[in-house]
Amino acid sequence: MPRSYVAEARKHVGPKRARIRPIIERLAIEHQDAAIALAFRSPLELLVSVMLSAQTTDVNVNRVTATLFEKYHAPEDYLAVTPEELERDIYATGFFRQKARSLRGTMRMLIEEFDGEVPATLEELVRLPGVARKTANVVAAELGRAQGVVVDTHVRRLSQRLGLTKQEDPVKIERDLMKLVPREDWARFPHLLIWHGRRVCDARRPACERCVVSDLCPSSRV
Ligand code: SF4
Repeated sequence: MPRSYVAEARKHVGPKRARIRPIIERLAIEHQDAAIALAFRSPLELLVSVMLSAQTTDVNVNRVTATLFEKYHAPEDYLAVTPEELERDIYATGFFRQKARSLRGTMRMLIEEFDGEVPATLEELVRLPGVARKTANVVAAELGRAQGVVVDTHVRRLSQRLGLTKQEDPVKIERDLMKLVPREDWARFPHLLIWHGRRVCDARRPACERCVVSDLCPSSRV
């Protein structure tokens, strides 16, 4: 049983199938600006930004890519420099060796198998070196081709607190959410939970008293 469940008193709020639409509608009104926080101008910049965002903040990634994208425009550019130079250019995002290796492998595959373009299917995206399902989901969703639901730490915590899943494993949580969330909302739903998580439903101190879905939330303290 997830900790967030055990720790908080459960309220009777009705079945999740009946709650999901009002939850989405209210959060969409509350967080109209909910969108990806990474700065990018092309599918390639999106892919690179998402790959660099592992284990660091979006703000940090944007700081690094502001200069990076002035220098690297096409997949070939990432292979035209030495691995050490690329490592230096992305150093501030952390795990720079591993990320540089993944970027170079990905660029090579983009050139060799995808005509230098970023593919939009999950199946193809996860073949790219260093691109796991979460990264692939984020990229596909931003390209307008959501094929799953992104599950990060906020989505996991809020889905559990809202009683939308009892799972702990992100893959199983995603499976539950894909069954529950209408397909047309797969792309924006994670953004709504992420922004609600940052602004209201904090990991340690959820502000239930000013939460727009508190009457729909089994974990509400009000
Ligand atoms: S802040 Fe809202 S979503 Fe989070 S536990 Fe409280 S009522 Fe539930």
